[in-house]
Amino acid sequence: MKISAILDQKHVSGVAWIKTDATVTDALATLADKGIGTLLVSEDGTKAKGILSERDIVRALARRGSASLSDPVDKIMTPDPVTCTADDNSASVLKKMTNGRFRHVPVVEENGTLLGVVSIGDIVKARLTDLEQEREALVDMIAGR
Ligand code: AMP
Repeated sequence: MKISAILDQKHVSGVAWIKTDATVTDALATLADKGIGTLLVSEDGTKAKGILSERDIVRALARRGSASLSDPVDKIMTPDPVTCTADDNSASVLKKMTNGRFRHVPVVEENGTLLGVVSIGDIVKARLTDLEQEREALVDMIAGR
């Protein structure tokens, strides 16, 4: 399945993002409010400078304690995240996630403009649909239907 089809099926459209100079406390509030685990870090919501996962916040808290809550998010984000395009397929994005050991990939246009984010849950759901369709097609072929 193409990433464009996955984005179309998502209930939430658009991109959850936060400004580079927002604090970790701001990020926590946004993550809790939206019920998500990741924010893109951006100046204006069109290009991603980085990605901030709840895991980055947990690590910062473990290292520096509550002092890290007033740090700007760009201090603890992962800069220049690995991205994909709407034309990529779910199998290639799953490979990127597995190799990079992360669960989120921003979807961008060729010029870097953000279109959305796909999570490992979105990708696994798409792969299961693909595999089920392939299985049905093979069964039909063997049965001569
Ligand atoms: P996640 O599994 O997505 O919660 O993220 C785990 C770690 O990988 C965190 O340090 C994130 O900042 C980082 N990360 C998440 N997504 C990406 C990505 N697409 N490219 C590079 N790093 C990422």
